[in-house]
Amino acid sequence: MQELATFPAPRPGMSGLVDKLADLAALRDRDALDIALVTTIHDVLQPGSAAICRVVGDLGNARWRICTQLQAGQRVPSGDSAWSPQESLPLLSAHPLRQQAIATGCMQESGRGRGHAVFSLGNTPGNTGVLEIHTDKPLSPASRDTVLGILRLHLNVSNLLDYGERDSLTALLNRKTFDGAFLKATLEQQASRIAQEQHPVPLERRTGSQTGTYWLAMIDIDHFKRVNDNYGHLIGDEVLLLLARLMRAHFRFHDQLYRFGGEEFVVLMRCHGEAEAAGVLERLRLTTAAYQFPQVGSITISIGFSEIRFGDSPSGAFERADRAVYFAKEHGRNQVCSYLGLVASGSLVEQKANVGEVELF
Ligand code: GH3
Ligand code: MG
Ligand code: MG
Repeated sequence: MQELATFPAPRPGMSGLVDKLADLAALRDRDALDIALVTTIHDVLQPGSAAICRVVGDLGNARWRICTQLQAGQRVPSGDSAWSPQESLPLLSAHPLRQQAIATGCMQESGRGRGHAVFSLGNTPGNTGVLEIHTDKPLSPASRDTVLGILRLHLNVSNLLDYGERDSLTALLNRKTFDGAFLKATLEQQASRIAQEQHPVPLERRTGSQTGTYWLAMIDIDHFKRVNDNYGHLIGDEVLLLLARLMRAHFRFHDQLYRFGGEEFVVLMRCHGEAEAAGVLERLRLTTAAYQFPQVGSITISIGFSEIRFGDSPSGAFERADRAVYFAKEHGRNQVCSYLGLVASGSLVEQKANVGEVELF
């Protein structure tokens, strides 16, 4: 579990709840929104604990990740690291009440004077989760209605964020959100390197956020124009949608998938070195080539990837991956090219940092 930032306490003078809800509705950051939800539930109900748990991973191997949890007396919320290995998280079946709440909206159980209530946060793909509350006494009907009202507000703000952050065809993240995620990733990479230098942890004892580095991959469909020309734009759209689905199933829950433009996708992922990144991407290339798209049959993709460096700007990393894709296109398509590998073999010449690249560190 790692500590998360806090949400401001209600300001005196106004009704505490209304004040909190007004602050919650103004949030435009998903993590802050979750923290606001659990702190508001604490202010209103003073429970033993309140937690937001989301479903991550594929069907068949789906797990519960605690995104934000606040216990009575705890000042700062905590949560499972975003980089927790999937196998370390509990399976869906380990928490049947949560599963039932997702299906029915709300579930409660009580016994020996204690209450355990679970509310669904919504059931959209990639954003399925629950709010779980442990209390000394079972929730009264009035408290339950208050929680449901707060959750409606949380869902509305969350839908608004989706609307601004996601591509409407594939539901992958859109380009607008990339720079912020990139900055977060590079800062986190820098912080974990400093922490490792100050308090070295042996490799075998390192947990999710202490291992690996970030990599950026660009994925471009080969000859996609022909798909549109031969089968029409609607069928082309269906190919984009199905490829996005293949990608979602292929990558781990914490890898971030973007649709950057027409038939170009970007992945920001964490891997232990170039060989692991290349392996993951090569498997995606093979899976895509083997997939039978309705009417169209098989398509291929070209992929270029690069590590993210200290002091990188989004455009610098993006340009390296782009040069590697370009190389793949020029050399037969349907292949994965590593920028590092191409520079090492002399196929590409390393360019000096662009003017305008930000020196972050
Ligand atoms: P290459 O292998 O060199 O990448 O060739 P390509 O045909 O994939 O690339 P090109 O850039 O020439 O064409 C991309 C095509 O993608 C052109 C455009 O019609 C199509 N496209 C862009 N956005 C969309 C979209 O939202 N839906 C559909 N169906 N097609 C799109
Ligand atoms: Mg393209
Ligand atoms: Mg293309």
